[in-house]
Amino acid sequence: MTTKLIFFTGGVVSSVGKGVTAASVGRLLKARGFDITIQKLDPYLNVDPGTLSPYQHGEVFVLDDGSETDLDLGHYERFCDLHLKKTSTVTTGQVYEEVINRERRGDYLGGTIQVIPHITNEIKRRIDLLTRSTDAEIALIEVGGTVGDIESQPFLEAIRELRNDLGRENTAFVHITWLPYLRATNETKTKPTQHSVRELRSVGIMPDMIIARSDFPVEKDLSHKIAQFCDVREEAVIPLVTADLLYEIPLVLEQAHVADILMERLELEPKQSPKIQGWRTMVAELKRQKPSIKIGLVGKYVELHDAYLSVREALNHAALFYGVDVDLHWISSTDIEKNNGKDLLVGLNGIIVPGGFGSRGVEGKVIAAQYARENQVPYLGICLGLQVMMIDFARNVLGLKEADSAEFDKLTPDPVIDLMLEQRGLDQLGGTMRLGLYPCHIKPGTKASALYQTEVIQERHRHRYEFNNDYRQKFEENGMVFSGLSPDGVLVEMAELKDHPFMMACQFHPEFLSRPNRAHPLFLGFIGAACRNAGLSDQLVDLDFTN
Ligand code: GLN
Repeated sequence: MTTKLIFFTGGVVSSVGKGVTAASVGRLLKARGFDITIQKLDPYLNVDPGTLSPYQHGEVFVLDDGSETDLDLGHYERFCDLHLKKTSTVTTGQVYEEVINRERRGDYLGGTIQVIPHITNEIKRRIDLLTRSTDAEIALIEVGGTVGDIESQPFLEAIRELRNDLGRENTAFVHITWLPYLRATNETKTKPTQHSVRELRSVGIMPDMIIARSDFPVEKDLSHKIAQFCDVREEAVIPLVTADLLYEIPLVLEQAHVADILMERLELEPKQSPKIQGWRTMVAELKRQKPSIKIGLVGKYVELHDAYLSVREALNHAALFYGVDVDLHWISSTDIEKNNGKDLLVGLNGIIVPGGFGSRGVEGKVIAAQYARENQVPYLGICLGLQVMMIDFARNVLGLKEADSAEFDKLTPDPVIDLMLEQRGLDQLGGTMRLGLYPCHIKPGTKASALYQTEVIQERHRHRYEFNNDYRQKFEENGMVFSGLSPDGVLVEMAELKDHPFMMACQFHPEFLSRPNRAHPLFLGFIGAACRNAGLSDQLVDLDFTN
């Protein structure tokens, strides 16, 4: 069986929403009974985004197998409910690394190594690896960057060749562009789209569909014009007006028959009538006016919301199940430090401290954990959020005033958080953390156990430091419960406070496994506690989002 390939390219501007669009198309194909998979081709030279600052590329999304990836992989997993693997993420850095390693080994037998065909062949090999490694009938492949960029040229050349290699009935090209609006003349313009299609055609790719993003409604005559100038059938010009909610986009694309048009192009028959009723119910519920709860997200990169994309999504997923909205307050941990700013935390129904690296702003997070503990405010700590909860407890409950994490103070007399044994002596930063899925045993009778309702869980990790077991007994004697441990009992994976409505933390990242229609147990627990704190019902809504 040949896997059919749908390629997504972007034109006019970056950040045009290719990832969400590809993910939405994936959802619609899956709803028709197809097995699908997705891949992102990223034109930057980093081998993976693991070493990139969140300020540059938003959060690093982590897969089951520990791959550190672009945040678009998060959209793919959430929209299509998939567990992707390493084969779903390709960067120019990986492609070059592979080709250069082969050259150094002498595999090319004295040949001259060139972008075409060596780099392009390696790109094609990785697309082939993706389709071989799954049973997918359709693979959606997003080319990062914008058509016309120098960096993305080898990717475009490779996908152009694939149409010849695999045949027209096995490949479709979707081009996503932006229609700017000029206020002076009250016009939405198609010229940049025409130019970007010309650019695409100059590398030999004829788009089969154009999805034209716009902030304003697009009149029929504009679609007609785009079809005419860009040689695309008129019904395959899909205006996509900026939606209030990302999860609405599959419904907008469904209304425009996007999946049907692509299936016809790929000579595929649907396997079932589209199952999207649950998604519709979910979007309707998301859009309904609901009471809201105030959640404070205390972080270091709060100016850039994409740095905490999966956390924000996971909060919204859980809120949906309680029929409430999250009124999210982005609180910079350095601001808390400046004002000794417990003021910034007053009135919140819940505080979440997500993951992070480096010492800037850590003290503000410790203050946030202390505030939540002392004021009985629901708290969810993720990774660094667990570590600061332990630091507060050590300093302010156990009286170890100088307790810290060895990450922030190498000389602290009380390193309650310390480097994991296997992390000592590592001198490479990229890809060397404790990464990906690890099992965790949950202690019966704890809040964690009530939420997960199972004894063994698997969650995704990304950290170097861990709770220092020298302090375990002292913590336990004073009311800390270590509710989740690695199977050998050595690593603390989860902790919760006994005498507190909800003070819970985990060393892993639950946000990566949350789905819009299947909220994560820990987020459900946290939002439920926040509802109680706000005096709202913590009953789950009686709606089916999954069918
Ligand atoms: N910096 C901490 C560590 O490496 C926490 C990591 C995180 O929050 N992802 O252990």
